[in-house]
Formats: sequence, C-alpha cells, structure tokens
Amino acid sequence: MSLLTKKPSFQGGIHPSDSKLTRDSGIQDIYPSGSLVIPLSQHIGAPAKPVVEEGDEVKLGQKIGESQGFVSSPIHASTSGEVIKIGKVHHPSGSEVEGVKIAPDGEDNPVDFQERNPDELSNDEILERIHGAGVVGMGGAAFPTHVKLSPPEEKNIDTLVINGAECEPYLTSDFRLMLEEPEKIIKGTQLIAEVLGVERVYLGIEDNKPEAAKEIRTHADGSIEVVELPTKYPQGWEKTLIQALTGREVPVDGLPLDIGVVVQNVATVTAIWDAVRFGVPLTERVVTATGTFKKPGNYRVRIGTQWKDLIDQLGGLTEGRTAKLIDGGPMMGDTQPDQSTPVVKSTSGLLALREETAVERDPSPCIRCGKCVDVCPANLLPTSIYKSVESGDIEQAKELNATACCECGSCTYVCPSEIPLVQWIVQGKSEIEEREE
Ligand code: SF4
Ligand code: SF4
Repeated sequence: MSLLTKKPSFQGGIHPSDSKLTRDSGIQDIYPSGSLVIPLSQHIGAPAKPVVEEGDEVKLGQKIGESQGFVSSPIHASTSGEVIKIGKVHHPSGSEVEGVKIAPDGEDNPVDFQERNPDELSNDEILERIHGAGVVGMGGAAFPTHVKLSPPEEKNIDTLVINGAECEPYLTSDFRLMLEEPEKIIKGTQLIAEVLGVERVYLGIEDNKPEAAKEIRTHADGSIEVVELPTKYPQGWEKTLIQALTGREVPVDGLPLDIGVVVQNVATVTAIWDAVRFGVPLTERVVTATGTFKKPGNYRVRIGTQWKDLIDQLGGLTEGRTAKLIDGGPMMGDTQPDQSTPVVKSTSGLLALREETAVERDPSPCIRCGKCVDVCPANLLPTSIYKSVESGDIEQAKELNATACCECGSCTYVCPSEIPLVQWIVQGKSEIEEREE
C-alpha cells in the first residue's frame, strides 16, 4: 500500500475528457496481412545501418539494422519473410527515413532466442542484452533504454520511477498491460532497480485506473510503491511525474538524472524483461486503436504494420465520419496524411478522429486572459513565446525558455482565441535549434 495519504500533483495542467473507450477491451494479437515497413530510425540518436539486402530471407527477431554508436539502437525483423525493398519510408513523425520492407511468409519462423537467468548476469551483460534487443522508450520519446540505464558515474541515482500514468485521452494500452501482465512489469522493474542500485521505486498511475493500481500492488508485494495521482493532463510528462512523486524539480535545462531519478514507462519495462530473460528483441507492441475504427480495442501489433493493414483487419473505419488519423493521442500525437505509415516502437495508439471532434476554427487576437499561463506545467509564458516567434524574435523566444516546452498542448487547449500556441512554440524551438547548430 502507498504510504502517502494525500495524492500529490503538479502546478498547472488541464482536465480534458479522458475518453478511455477501449479500457475494457483485452489485448488481442494481430498478425500482419500485408507487407511490413520497418524504419531504421525509430529512436533518438543515430539511425541503424541495414545489414540485409533485397531478396534476403529473414526470420522473426533477426537483426536487419545495426546500431551506429552508443546512442543508437538496432532494428529487427518483426516476422519471417523476404526483404523486398530497402529505401525511403514514411515515419509517423512526418519525415522520410531509410527503412526495410518485408513480405511476410505467414510462417513467423523465429531465430533461436537465447534465454538467460538474469541472476547470473552482470550489469554490463544485462545492459548489453537490452541494447542488443533494440529496446527504446515506448512511452513516446524512444530514447535508447541502455543509455538511460547507464547514467554518468557522478550522478547519484537513488530513485526509479515507473510511468503508468497514461494521461493522454483515449489511450488504454498501458492500462491493459498493467492489468494483464503485472508480473512482467514488476520483474522488469526489479531488474533495473538492481542495475541502478536505487533506494526507492515508485510506480505513478492516475486515479482513473484503480483496477490497474490494485493489480500491480498485489503482485509487487511491497517492492514498488504504487502511488495513485490525480487524473490531470500531462501527469505522465517526466518532469510533472517526478515532481508529483518525489517533490523534486528537474532544472529547466536539465534531465531527471540531474536530480537522481530515472524514469521508464510500463511498456518499456515489459520489453526489458523479454529482452534480458528470454532474449526476445522488440518487434511488437500493444497499441490502442480507437475513434472511428469499426473494431476498436487494444492490439498487440508487429512493428512495421501499416495503418491501412490495421484498418482492413479491424473492419475498416465508420463511413464518412473520419476527419484525421493520428499516431498517438489527441494532445501530443502526429497527424498522418498517409495510410502506409507504419506502427513504430513508440506508437502507443492509432486514433481515427471523428469529424465532430476535429473541428478547427480560425484564431482571433489574444485577449490577455492568462489561461495559457495558468495551465502550463513547465511554468512558461506561452502567449509571450508565441508573440516572439510570430514577430521573428527568436532570441527572445529562447530567453523565455521556449526549449523547456514539452509540447503538451495544454495552452492551445484552453485558449479562448483558438490560437495554435503549441504550433508556434514548436516552430520557435526548431528555429532555436537550427540557429544553435
Ligand atoms: S507552453 Fe508547452 S509546456 Fe506549456 S502548456 Fe504550452 S505546450 Fe505545454
Ligand atoms: S489563453 Fe489565448 S487569449 Fe488567453 S492569454 Fe493565452 S494566448 Fe491570449
């Protein structure tokens, strides 16, 4: 049981309808019916380099892209079949990247996965197995996990935070994982707690998921402090989660490890356990398909499965009511102009947004109401940053700490003038980055 009597929170935030329409839908497996499109860059850092050629036969779990350096991650085939193309493919972020296209043979023949007893492995061996399996942050950031678990020696890491908040409306994939695979989450968590040598382990979860909190508590047997947090967006952002659980504040330009904390998402710790215990690389993940899908639900999908394949297998979309396809949730997801875009390691949801929820209005002038300032979890002045970027004063946007924006979209959500604040701030961030390069 949590020792905390008062539920902690953070400053700012908003309360959109959580719309968790698929919360009662158990995880179902889906095998691709069409070709797989597997980007070689699904992580922060250097893209993987292809190690197969067109015409090669590959097996499930076979490495098809080798990581390039420490901050990089390998890529594996998500089923057996033939490599039919190596070239540019769509990535959900909107970019075109190098990728490998595989025609599945329907056999799903795996490579020989090497099981190991984690108790007999050194920390270096555990980290190497995590790296070799291509595990990256599955909560959205896709930072290579072995890097996050290898903090510099001078950083005194004493706290591990497992992120089970799933604060984005509509998404329920992490919720179903916590309900259906609590043992794996707990074993993965205990394993990395050992590697990091931490004193405290928290699992933060919003209080709209009491069944999942109970499930984890029951199985964790006191090894993890499960803390239910108020349902408030963006509770799952690393900085707000750390503040709510530990009372510590990550510096504006700093990282969680600067204040002794490492954060991992619940889906990532299941992938860590599969990699270390069973030698299974990251080739599939649970996604929530919701909105106008005729068969909405939570599905275990192979990495590289294209949107059009999933839409077909889930009975199509409701006729004439879909305005937008989004990789992720409605607040932070990326709009997809093309149905050939694949599911990648960081895809937690596929949202086919209804026409009536996707209405966009023309912005009107700022009325200086201050609502955007009140809700910003990063303590920024969204309206001032937007005005700086709009007028081309990038230096001022930088002085206003635009780069500390987590792009949560809360400011845009509350703005009565319908100003697309987050779009302006994202533009400002990329102009600051370009200038610094
Ligand atoms: S400025 Fe950034 S962090 Fe603040 S509310 Fe807007 S999107 Fe979120
Ligand atoms: S919420 Fe919109 S109208 Fe209000 S101060 Fe911010 S930008 Fe201006």
